[in-house]
Amino acid sequence: MKYDVIIGLEIHAELKTKSKMFCPCNNDSEGKAPNTLVCPICLGHPGTLPVPNKQAIDWTLLLGLALDCDINRDSKFDRKNYFYPDLPKGYQISQYDQPFCVNGKLDIGEREIDVTRIHLEEDTGKSFHRPGSNDTLIDFNRAGTPLVELVTEPVIASAEEAKRFCQAYQRILRFLKVSNAEMEKGEMRCEANISLQTKGAWKYEDGRILPTGKKALNAKVEVKNLNSFRAVEKAINYEISRQEKALNDKEEILPETRGWDEKKNATVAQRVKETAADYRYFPEPDIPPIKINQAWLEELKHQLVELPAAKAKRFMHQYGLKLESAETIANNKELSSFFENVVSEMGAWIEANGDDFERQDKNAAQMAANWVTGELLKNLNTDKRDAGKLKMTAENFAELMALIWQNKINSNAGQRILEIMYWEGGDPTDIMEKLGLEQLDGDEELEGAIRSVISANPQQANEYRKGKFPLIQFFVGKVMAETKGKANPEKVRPMLEKMLLE
Ligand SMILES: [Zn+2]
Repeated sequence: MKYDVIIGLEIHAELKTKSKMFCPCNNDSEGKAPNTLVCPICLGHPGTLPVPNKQAIDWTLLLGLALDCDINRDSKFDRKNYFYPDLPKGYQISQYDQPFCVNGKLDIGEREIDVTRIHLEEDTGKSFHRPGSNDTLIDFNRAGTPLVELVTEPVIASAEEAKRFCQAYQRILRFLKVSNAEMEKGEMRCEANISLQTKGAWKYEDGRILPTGKKALNAKVEVKNLNSFRAVEKAINYEISRQEKALNDKEEILPETRGWDEKKNATVAQRVKETAADYRYFPEPDIPPIKINQAWLEELKHQLVELPAAKAKRFMHQYGLKLESAETIANNKELSSFFENVVSEMGAWIEANGDDFERQDKNAAQMAANWVTGELLKNLNTDKRDAGKLKMTAENFAELMALIWQNKINSNAGQRILEIMYWEGGDPTDIMEKLGLEQLDGDEELEGAIRSVISANPQQANEYRKGKFPLIQFFVGKVMAETKGKANPEKVRPMLEKMLLE
């Protein structure tokens, strides 16, 4: 393609505070009858006064700190004026030129994306079209819900990167426990600004895309209604192809707002884009400017938790985990703390047994990570259970890991024991003894089993001796069956190879 793709994102997220942004109404509208969570303030009755929700401001600042933003020590709310039926006051209280947070960045794995600003505003009501009629009904339960808007710099270069950004941001909102950020429920809503520019005809300067010569830049198009990660990716890819084709056909790109239509699999023109002047922003006269001092920020910094990307990097460094296991575990806060408890317990257990936790050939933490991301996660998914609500303790899981690490049981037995511990709890050593799952490790016992397998299969033994070596797998299987799965396969194989040729 002869064009550069330039994408900026705007993401709205509803904060899950107890009450709304400027009034005491309940902020949890899920499952509630329409217009039952309303009061004169969020309905915009004349003479009412908005009072900002401290929790919502705290959480916005926390988000800003987590994304490495500068915090505006002098901030304020502004009125954004527009007319729409679901906006009871005829304006939205938002933030214009002094947002709480500016100049941040978010790590999406292979690189960091610059964040322009994060500000706080209030959500609107919802309109419904009554089927089979021309009526529009409005539910104001959502009106006044605290809404955080994040804006990125126009530095995203593909649909894939945009999707990764949305996913990383969702994880942070959930990690900080400030929003459920469920896209399907509208708790997190993405919009993308997309333009295609001729290579060399533009430059990026102070957050803006500027022409390098006399040639005017192509307009950018805003795409709304992206209510899943899949929609983000598909809509942006669609828009890139649409604009590329239009430019190749010498058609002008209109600076418009388009909506993603899931059924048509296409973006559809909605309206010509508003500019800031159309909104006639002015400072909200009913809310005094907000001063944020150092003490307030210090208090918030104590609440700041380690974020997924940083955690994954630490897991790789501290425990020697592979990237994939580190990311899978780090992306789940509860699973992360379970894993770290397991590793610390396991180290103590293994060393108490006179074995080394760190060996040249094998990494015990990586082994535990494999069990956590494999068998444990499989059970959690089947069970639709949160890793924070496990029946088994990290101590017991660590003990199971130690049994495997020290070859007291093989991995088949490990899976059986884990299954029991997962659903019923219990101590792995007890379960092992009760079910007789101890690994057969002793030379004599193994020799006996191998000898009887060889004498029961003379024909295969002969073929093996004549050079049909892949038959070794057949014999390993037979020995495992003979020992009811308890033999140590790592030991069986070399013993078989030796005894078959005797
Ligand atoms: Zn209210």
